[in-house]
Amino acid sequence: MVKRRIVEILRSGQPDESLLIQGWVRTKRELKGFSFIEVNDGSSLASLQVVMNQDLPDYEAIIKKLNTGASVEVTGVLVPSQGKGQRIELKAETVKVYGEADPETYPLQKKRHSYEFLRTIGHLRSRTNSFGAVFRVRNACATAIHQFFQERGFLWVHTPIITASDCEGAGELFNVTGLNLKDIPRTENNAVDYAQDFFGRPTYLTVSGQLEAEVMAMAFSNVYTFGPTFRAENSNTSRHLAEFWMVEPEMAFCDLDGDMDLAEAFLKHVFKYVLETCPEDMEFFNQRIDDTVLSTADNIINNEFQRLTYTEAISLLEKADVKFEYPVSWGLDLQSEHERYLAEQLFKKPVIVCDYPAKIKAFYMRLSDDEKTVRAMDILAPKIGEIIGGSQREERLDVLEKRIIAQGMQPEDLWWYLDLRRYGTVPHAGFGLGFERLVQFMTGMGNIRDVIPFPRTPQSAEF
Ligand code: ATP
Ligand code: MN
Repeated sequence: MVKRRIVEILRSGQPDESLLIQGWVRTKRELKGFSFIEVNDGSSLASLQVVMNQDLPDYEAIIKKLNTGASVEVTGVLVPSQGKGQRIELKAETVKVYGEADPETYPLQKKRHSYEFLRTIGHLRSRTNSFGAVFRVRNACATAIHQFFQERGFLWVHTPIITASDCEGAGELFNVTGLNLKDIPRTENNAVDYAQDFFGRPTYLTVSGQLEAEVMAMAFSNVYTFGPTFRAENSNTSRHLAEFWMVEPEMAFCDLDGDMDLAEAFLKHVFKYVLETCPEDMEFFNQRIDDTVLSTADNIINNEFQRLTYTEAISLLEKADVKFEYPVSWGLDLQSEHERYLAEQLFKKPVIVCDYPAKIKAFYMRLSDDEKTVRAMDILAPKIGEIIGGSQREERLDVLEKRIIAQGMQPEDLWWYLDLRRYGTVPHAGFGLGFERLVQFMTGMGNIRDVIPFPRTPQSAEF
């Protein structure tokens, strides 16, 4: 007997086909002389309806076991469905119950549960419609990302998770240590003696793979990283995780205009791919979660992003006839409310803001001739605010050294990074995209904890 995935049966199954399915019972309806069960194997939002006649061997005993959550294997023949709501259904010939699920204790009964409650059963929530849809779309986003870069000849490079450079997000790093915390070795002046630690120096979980991606771009021209990153930031918001995934392309022989072009083409590609491959899931989000999800996707795919400089953005914000909570003035960073005003209200589409003041941006961003701004860009999306942050990198050794010192760091600590500017330096650029923010944006899910299977946040790492 051929085993088939339910998504394929619903899409293209034909009457009279004999086949086998395996999955979990979503619902059961007992009628006189026969019963229906809905079986879901995770391959699609919709479940397959199975009809069981009372002439099946052991009918009564089996029906009793087929409660919501039970695992089953069914063989049978596809028949056109008499009822509304499905084209085809499976007429069971054999039914095998693998594991029962006690209706008294199984928490996922047929009613709507809040996302807060579902977070407390992280090991079971993937069996719900919402999380099924989220994780299929998450998978499609990841596939689209690899496809986009691979088609363009980018090399996927694996940057380290354990790193010794702490220059990026001081204060937000998780320490990595092999030291016995009950008996920490100390130096003469009572500091932790990292010389005795596993790596002989302090190490951390990475906050970004960018510096290492730059190393690889200086050999392979175009590369990208796609992996987990970590922030020990104690921000309990709906947009921050302690462990999240980041996509970071890096291109040699590329300036900021090329970087913006790539980022725009990238977002368009991912949205298009997800709409094409997950239409039912996207329809579900539009109906149940946020009724602007489909129009937003359409907006991204079909409109050119609005490009403007930070200086222009500031003067538009100063002229705006809305009252902002945070002040607007040249030199201050844009807050979420400002970003959303630009994208949602003013331009009504994604906006790329470039050329930010050097003072509010990282040391590696390329200083412009005005010496006041750097070649940085952020992509701001309606509803979300910043979704991508990128820049052209400083490729001039002397300028980079000055910027490192100006930010209170030691050039010696970054000796290998500076070597890239000593040997065969080229203009280069890249960006970073928070993968979960993208999935949130795509699905309309309000809380970032609900777009990653096992969220890590302050005081929470249960599953
Ligand atoms: P924010 O201001 O929202 O905290 P950030 O300025 O700290 O973001 P970057 O350091 O530029 O962000 O990181 C690159 C991208 O990673 C961001 O654009 C965002 O999409 C994502 N990101 C940053 N911090 C987190 C986090 N704690 N959880 C999930 N995604 C994050
Ligand atoms: Mn942050």
